[in-house]
Amino acid sequence: MPVPVPGYALLDRPVQYLKGVGPRRAEALERLGVHTARDLLHHVPRRYEEASTVARIGSLEVGMDATVIGEVVSKGVLKARSGLRIFQAVLRDESGLIECSWPGQPFLDRTIRKGDILLASGPVRFFHGRQLQPREYVILGHGEEDVDASGKVLPIYPTTEGLSQRVLRGIIAQSLDALLPHAGAEEVFRPEELRAAGVPALPQALEWLHRPATLAEAEHGRRRLAYEEIFFVQLLHARAHARATAERRGIPFRRTDELIAPLYRKLPFRLTAAQARVLREIVADMESPRRMNRLVQGDVGSGKTVVALFAMLLAVESGYQAALMAPTEILAEQHDRNLRALLDGLPVEVVLLTGRLGAAERRRALERIGSGAAHIVVGTHALIQDAVSFHRLGLAVVDEQHRFGVRQRMALAELGDSPDVLVMSATPIPRSLALTIYGDLDLSVLDELPPGRQRIRTGVRPAHKRQSVYDFIRQQVGEGRQAYIVYPLVEESDKVELRAAVAEYERLAAEVFPDLRLGLIHGQMAAEEKDCTMRAFAAGELDVLVSTTVIEVGIDVANATVMVIEHAERFGLSQLHQLRGRVGRGAAESFCILMTDGDPEASARLDVLARTEDGFEIARADLRLRGMGDFFGPRQHGLPSFRFFDHERDEGLLMTARREARRLVEADPELADPANQRFRTVLETRYGERARMYGVG
Ligand code: ADP
Ligand code: MG
Repeated sequence: MPVPVPGYALLDRPVQYLKGVGPRRAEALERLGVHTARDLLHHVPRRYEEASTVARIGSLEVGMDATVIGEVVSKGVLKARSGLRIFQAVLRDESGLIECSWPGQPFLDRTIRKGDILLASGPVRFFHGRQLQPREYVILGHGEEDVDASGKVLPIYPTTEGLSQRVLRGIIAQSLDALLPHAGAEEVFRPEELRAAGVPALPQALEWLHRPATLAEAEHGRRRLAYEEIFFVQLLHARAHARATAERRGIPFRRTDELIAPLYRKLPFRLTAAQARVLREIVADMESPRRMNRLVQGDVGSGKTVVALFAMLLAVESGYQAALMAPTEILAEQHDRNLRALLDGLPVEVVLLTGRLGAAERRRALERIGSGAAHIVVGTHALIQDAVSFHRLGLAVVDEQHRFGVRQRMALAELGDSPDVLVMSATPIPRSLALTIYGDLDLSVLDELPPGRQRIRTGVRPAHKRQSVYDFIRQQVGEGRQAYIVYPLVEESDKVELRAAVAEYERLAAEVFPDLRLGLIHGQMAAEEKDCTMRAFAAGELDVLVSTTVIEVGIDVANATVMVIEHAERFGLSQLHQLRGRVGRGAAESFCILMTDGDPEASARLDVLARTEDGFEIARADLRLRGMGDFFGPRQHGLPSFRFFDHERDEGLLMTARREARRLVEADPELADPANQRFRTVLETRYGERARMYGVG
């Protein structure tokens, strides 16, 4: 255990003044983000090499990436014809010899001696036989002395130009013993808290990360830092959750069945067991005096809309208004139409509010909302952008929340008198990830599709098969069906890409399907035009709808059975899954055709979609392939970024952190207790901006 050392002076010292650093190396360290001694202590290895990863020299083959340990039996500097000077050394172990080559590093001749025992790792190439080109090497010892590499774990640090692995390792090794005791003063957790989480104290963790005796020690060290990361994110979420679910003034919602019962009787289908369960969770939240702050995750087509509608009717029955926010005009308009149809004959007024209403329409809508005449308000983010004043808003629903950022969700929760909040997502993600990212929300999962859904037959086609795809569309249209052809647009505002999509539409209309009825829809169109085209498609007056990704979310036309996606490789798997969900909504067999340029890697990725229709599985694959940042896209700024925590590996840590954080906040919501000042301080210094975003900063 470290001895407490007063003050942070040593850790705050510029790294330049540490042993073995100096101004030139300090410059390189700056590039790594290492400015102070503290930064150096936290500059931990990105991976490790150890004996179990070491290959026998005799077994090396060209094309392998390998780590070997051997004695330097000869060495020297060669000059290539290009003038490049190359350091070479031959390593030997009991199984054979290998030549190692370091182009452009003749100076190594002064560092590496004959008789040294070297660990080297890198690719094995073919060059007059096998040759290893080390990315990294370490001198383990020299000559006859018995170098026992079997027990060694070698840290490999992130490094940069002008700072070799060896030098960086040396700098850290020289200062580690002096710095570690000071880390004790920076420990934010109490021993009993660390015990509850099953992780070591900070100095021990850092020592294990820098100087592990075994890989297991390094892993314990990583877990300690991972716990700290996830704990503070969960603490932030717990505070946001406490705030968002604080008891509301006024009455809780009371079910009278005046509206819910008639809707239930009117529905042309029975709710699935999952819908009924999620609805019970929602009703329990709404009937309790605390505010609801709940996320419903459900795959495409799992029937989220009708669940939201029942929740909205509960609000209306109780004398409140409800708002439903959708990410696009088209979707808002469709919700508006569907809700009106479902509510036909019931005394419920639905009002649509989008950014594209005319001045007079808008004034009228605002007036109905303000007077309370409007019971359900459907809109886009116009709902939160304009100063909409509600008469008595009780429930705010966000549809397709992955299209919104945290800020927009928070803004919606601030509308009117702080309504209950229901957030719906059609991008199902693993539970552990949902709790990591949306930890401030309670989670409900719609894990069942309504009965009778058919598989959507999905195939990947190279560009040269396009004609047969067109023939197929023609055949389906001949049978009375409709088709979508989608072009990728990263941003609907991208003029160049938009022109390409429009040009394609013109070509299809003039040359490929001159006899069919084609429509075009994209994000830059006027609302009326878009709406008109969409209506015509929904009414079966168009055969083929050419579109950009504006149709990605929610569009529901049961007679459409073909979805062709051009340049499918440019989309994420989850987005393709969403697009695919636009077909297969009726009784007829449906098809999804992913057109791609024939790149085998892209095709392999797309094959995941051909294999499964499980949105969870697709999301998992997508996350693995693209990482969190790309998966969630630019809208989800405010995603926590983790260096150590991994939601897949660290689910146990996550659950502990979530439990501990919620318990802490329950006992001390404002972290006002002096004993909790340490947590406040960390939140403010490290997570200030996020905390403010969640309204708890
Ligand atoms: P999503 O979850 O993708 O938003 P929707 O709410 O749009 O799905 O529902 C998809 C379709 O399934 C709609 O046409 C809806 O009327 C229908 N639907 C919803 N629930 C059921 C059910 N329990 N049984 C049959 N059809 C249902
Ligand atoms: Mg939907």
